[in-house]
Amino acid sequence: MQMNEMPRDFDADVLVVGTGPMGGMTALALATYGVRVLAVNRSNWLADSPRAHVTNLRSMEILRSLGLEQEARKLATPWELMGDTTFTVTLAGPEIARIASYGLGDSRYGEYQASSPCRMGDLPQPLLEPLLVKAAGARGAELRFNTIYRSSEQDDRGVTVQLEDRITGVAYRRRVRYLVGADGARSVVAEDAGLPLQGVMGRAGTVYARFNGDLSTYMQHRHSVLTWIVNKDAAVGEIGLGLLRAVRPWDQWIAGWGFDIDAGEPDVTDETARTRIKAYVGDPDFEPDVVAVNPWYVNEAWASTYATGRIFCGGDAVHRHPPSNGLGSNTSMQDGFNLAWKLAYVLRGDAAPSLLDTYSQERAPVGRHVVTRANQSRREYAPLHKALAPEVPGGPSGYEKITAPTLEGAKARADLAAVLALKENEYNALGIEINQRYSSDAIIDDGEPPETWPRDPEIHAQHTTRPGAKLPHAWLVGRNGKKVSSLDLVGNGVFTLLTGPTGGRWAAAASALGLPWLRVVIVDGPDARDLYCAWQRAREVEEDGAILVRPDGYVAWRTPKAPDANAEAQLTTALSRIMGQPVMSELRSRVPLAARAR
Ligand code: FAD
Repeated sequence: MQMNEMPRDFDADVLVVGTGPMGGMTALALATYGVRVLAVNRSNWLADSPRAHVTNLRSMEILRSLGLEQEARKLATPWELMGDTTFTVTLAGPEIARIASYGLGDSRYGEYQASSPCRMGDLPQPLLEPLLVKAAGARGAELRFNTIYRSSEQDDRGVTVQLEDRITGVAYRRRVRYLVGADGARSVVAEDAGLPLQGVMGRAGTVYARFNGDLSTYMQHRHSVLTWIVNKDAAVGEIGLGLLRAVRPWDQWIAGWGFDIDAGEPDVTDETARTRIKAYVGDPDFEPDVVAVNPWYVNEAWASTYATGRIFCGGDAVHRHPPSNGLGSNTSMQDGFNLAWKLAYVLRGDAAPSLLDTYSQERAPVGRHVVTRANQSRREYAPLHKALAPEVPGGPSGYEKITAPTLEGAKARADLAAVLALKENEYNALGIEINQRYSSDAIIDDGEPPETWPRDPEIHAQHTTRPGAKLPHAWLVGRNGKKVSSLDLVGNGVFTLLTGPTGGRWAAAASALGLPWLRVVIVDGPDARDLYCAWQRAREVEEDGAILVRPDGYVAWRTPKAPDANAEAQLTTALSRIMGQPVMSELRSRVPLAARAR
């Protein structure tokens, strides 16, 4: 490629390999920001099996900011039905324990409600992916199915990607400025880019059998998307419990069981699955309609860096872990949302390419944390399994132990309560979903002492306007009298400077800069009245201070009070640091994107 290459010489600005949660979100956000994006997928269509379900508050907030929250809520099993995680001998049989989950218990309900304008939902991957990808296409992304990524080569100005049409077998090249590897747990892009992967792949195994069948009789009185089966037949593999996972309440399901990976490939015949499903359900009249049976393997692996040059990877390509805590597709979507605005700003020339370094700085620690948490949650079934296993072969079962009216029974009940408490880390772990803190060159530390965590940071949400944290949610009231979240005031691809009615000097400074990608919002002004005084409690700066929020809703900079000196200079300095270059004048920023692309 010649050094004098013009923007039109590029087939697209960004090529995304994969249209799962990571690729779908990246393509959607890029298209929303007006970037020329091409997304390819080796398959004929999107996910055809319900892997990820749990869509957590942060992901719902992202969907909200992209205008897709209502549609997501229509497609998802509602939060209220996610219910209690249940432990039973069989679905039809006696119960052993319940864990009020996903914030639906009395002690956590308010915390989940107060943390976000959104509600979580259970959105199976075959419904989530079309939501993302159709919107990406509608907003201008070019989509190609049956298209395999083969290899890539990068140089100073771009990346040349070798693709293959799966139907015709024809190989062809695409020249792009940036390549995004969203090609999942067997990522070829990450391998080609030489991203260092640490940890272990395939350390345990599980079989998932999808089946259809009306089990509503057993669910009406105890809504639960997860039912664990505790009996000796189910006591195999690392978890040692069987699983019935509702895909659609209450007639589409997954049955899951562990297998010994040292004993070779598991039996995945329909007949074996049917026998097991019937045993888990425990109703002799129930006949499951088995759809598919597949093994999957538990990984504990992460990349310490997510990028090299012009190639960026995200999602399972760089963090691989089991479904415990339901963090896989959520973390993948959040990777994509973090990366997309940075690519858009650099491509437009509003930021230096160094802004892209912050993607890995911010997301790699999150990925590592998630891999650790999900694997630990899986290991934490061992004490539960032990508490419910017979003391001696053929001895009393878990159910018999915990219902015995004896001193041993009392001890078994106390032991069970103690081990169930550990599972708060999996079923009510709001903190790990929403407390992510970024430390990078796109975050300006405000010199405050380090944040302290009075409560367990993996379990409880802690909201702050410290730089590096997600903007807290507070209900405000708009001009029409309707409630509007503080989160609704930010995003849409621009930076937002939040200040109060007495913060006029900050507002004037921001307006004077005339940057099309910087907007000012006066909180407790006419567009966002603080009628509940919720913002006063949340903002942690004086009313005449200011909080600068990035397009992804994270605080980049804050200042506690009105400026002592030149507000415009202070704001310009902060923005220039974040962008990695002097902020552009309005005139420069209005040059069309294609002519300014880097
Ligand atoms: P993927 O979804 O794997 O998507 C990869 C994409 O890349 C696909 O479109 C694929 O076709 C494409 N591709 C791959 N190679 C190429 C190539 N060479 N050329 C072109 N295209 C290519 N997560 C949760 O958050 N909650 C849950 O409840 C949950 N449950 C799960 C249950 C199971 C059984 C499993 C296996 C996973 C579960 N997960 C869950 C994890 C979740 O499914 C993954 O974390 C998520 O799909 C990762 O998204 P991704 O976009 O990175 O990769």
